[in-house]
Amino acid sequence: MTRPSLSDLTRNLANYDPDAIPVQQAQELIAQLVKPIAEAEYVGLHEALGRVLAADLISPISVPAHDNSAMDGYAFAGRSLATSGATVLRVVGSALAGKPFVGTVNVGTCVRIMTGAVMPADCDTVAPQELVALVEANLIQIGANLVCVGDHRRLCGEDLAQGQPALSAGRILRPSDLGLIASLGIGQVLVRRRLRVAYFSTGDELRSLRDTLDPGCIYDSNRYTLFGMLTRLGCELIDLGVVKDNPALLEMAFRNACTRADVVITSGGVSVGLADYTPQTIEKLGDVAFWKIRMRPGRPMTFGIITSEQESAYLFGLPGNPVAVMVTFYFMVRSALLLAMGALEQPLPKSQAVSESLIRKKAGRTEYQRGIVTPQVNGPSTVRVTGSQGSGVLRSMSEANCIIVLHEAQGTVAPGDLVDVYLFDGLV
Ligand code: AMP
Ligand code: MG
Repeated sequence: MTRPSLSDLTRNLANYDPDAIPVQQAQELIAQLVKPIAEAEYVGLHEALGRVLAADLISPISVPAHDNSAMDGYAFAGRSLATSGATVLRVVGSALAGKPFVGTVNVGTCVRIMTGAVMPADCDTVAPQELVALVEANLIQIGANLVCVGDHRRLCGEDLAQGQPALSAGRILRPSDLGLIASLGIGQVLVRRRLRVAYFSTGDELRSLRDTLDPGCIYDSNRYTLFGMLTRLGCELIDLGVVKDNPALLEMAFRNACTRADVVITSGGVSVGLADYTPQTIEKLGDVAFWKIRMRPGRPMTFGIITSEQESAYLFGLPGNPVAVMVTFYFMVRSALLLAMGALEQPLPKSQAVSESLIRKKAGRTEYQRGIVTPQVNGPSTVRVTGSQGSGVLRSMSEANCIIVLHEAQGTVAPGDLVDVYLFDGLV
């Protein structure tokens, strides 16, 4: 497969500046380069939850397969309804769900029917039990103007029509979808293979959980945050641990990752610190851009395609700061992973809230502040920022229930101004 290189894509961009790239331009470049994985596999319905449908799912049958009753009551032909006054009908039999009535229902007669039972031939209307009075055994009366022709009948195919797509390719299957597929009698679905994502942390100061914490060292938290975010997306994970700030070790880790995974995600080492060897190491391995994105947190980021032993992988080199990892993941990486998974676009749930206080903001960059949205009874929700917004303060993220996005052109926010928020709800 031939695809454009990053340098092909950026060469003709009049306003491309890798050292001050706007968020949207970075997102667009990523979206242009990432292609869905091709492989698909059949899985049983239980395993299909959260997977990406690989082809349109065509309904082999109509659901419901017959007109049926939506209520417990009496089924009859609409023309049996009296034009004025009450209608009296003789009961000639009964229809239960799974046990249809097989006789004929002439004008002036009806069949006792239960919810879900097939409508007998010639019947198109159901009078719910509550609206019917029993005059004598096998004789019912329906009060005037209580029922119209066609009432309380579910039509054949009203849920799903035979031969029509019931679900589209790219759909991430949800609980309701599993039920819907089962209602079609289908037990196996074609889904894309899971996206393989390898990830590791870089930094001499990082210690894994069972290590003792030497002076000046910290526990590696990014791998756990990434594990959580990637698991929520349904990726297959390859955890490559912590890699020291050492060019030879880093090169080995990158080569190993890209032979095993579709996507490689790293954190740390992408800025210009003395020990930040990542750029010079990965430049050798592929077509990679080192961006300074006009965003905060998360300014430095590496993106591209690396290759080793003819195996390629998309690379996202994220900053080291824990909050920056999460912000760049949600606003730079997430939609690219969905694209690679073959999923339809799943925009983050965006809404607006009124700022409770002043939020200082420099124009010319996009800021992602951690916020707490509070619903209000009378009027729009309000939002306040969680304490310190330092990009290393992971607590600001744990306390938050949303990200407040202050766009590039936006300046300081006054109390009472509306701001865009992305609710975490089920995401973080
Ligand atoms: P770097 O981008 O490598 O310069 O790292 C920026 C900051 O993030 C430094 O304070 C690092 O110690 C911190 N950091 C880097 N990686 C991690 C990690 N995996 N877990 C927690 N903090 C990290
Ligand atoms: Mg580092």
